[in-house]
Amino acid sequence: MGKLNLPQGKKIAVNLGIDVDAQSLWLGGYNRPSPSFMSRGEFGAVVGMPRILDLFKKYGVKSTFFTPAHTLETFPDIIKRALSEGHEIAHHGYYHENPTLINRETEKRLQDLSFKAYKNILGIRPTGYRSPYWDYSENTLDLLEEQGFIYDSSLMARDFEIYRPQRWQIRWEKPNIAGPGSKVLEAPVSWFLDDFPPMAYTGQQTGLQDTDVIYRRWSDEFLYCYNHVSNGFYGTAMHPQVIGQGHLMMFLERLIQFMLSHDGVWFASCEDICKCYVNDAEDERLLALPDVRGVEAMPKDYGWK
Ligand SMILES: [Zn+2]
Repeated sequence: MGKLNLPQGKKIAVNLGIDVDAQSLWLGGYNRPSPSFMSRGEFGAVVGMPRILDLFKKYGVKSTFFTPAHTLETFPDIIKRALSEGHEIAHHGYYHENPTLINRETEKRLQDLSFKAYKNILGIRPTGYRSPYWDYSENTLDLLEEQGFIYDSSLMARDFEIYRPQRWQIRWEKPNIAGPGSKVLEAPVSWFLDDFPPMAYTGQQTGLQDTDVIYRRWSDEFLYCYNHVSNGFYGTAMHPQVIGQGHLMMFLERLIQFMLSHDGVWFASCEDICKCYVNDAEDERLLALPDVRGVEAMPKDYGWK
């Protein structure tokens, strides 16, 4: 597959990606509209975001803020500030809807509703998309191509490389068949580089872990990419209502300082990183594969309900 042609002197592209879910996370994500959960979202927009923007400014970090339009319309000023400070604002659904729970028409309608808000409030049309769930409906990739996105950031078929997501025809007692690669590039995500599972409290996850544990994991991931992948990509998903907590801001500053102690680290938006992608013959082959897709019915003698 193709590769990143990074700017001169740069060895690794780092996107310290921020998912500005704010209150929408607890609506589309968890169906918890109570005042307490709304207050956690409010903390992200009102307290976490300024802390993150100040820290990024201190170290010259440019990044991507994946922002549901619900967040943008509820807390417009802080997102305007992020844009004015040179960061990318990317599409992250309207109310953090789960694409697997909505039909094609609704998925498209909510994408368009969000585009309208980005245009009205920020005067932009985002070129990047992150699924609110890191999950796709069977229509998502087609819709992203139709909408003209340059890249998506929701999938996990690679870890440290920008790549072309692939369609698959899913079968049970025969192998799956590879379908065409996408025109939309993929800036992969990783649950290991998401702050929510290890650091947040939801009552269901093993959150609230010590920052030393997370620091070791996130810095080791960086070191592996730096030492083993040429022109690699390292991307995170951090949520202002989580990473914006005091001790986690100290963790994030320590991580940035560690990265900066290495030569050739490029802190950039996903959009700028994906614009460095150069196709090769494998891309052309993937793009031209026959359009197979769909999920075969489950064998009748197998037990899932
Ligand atoms: Zn999100």
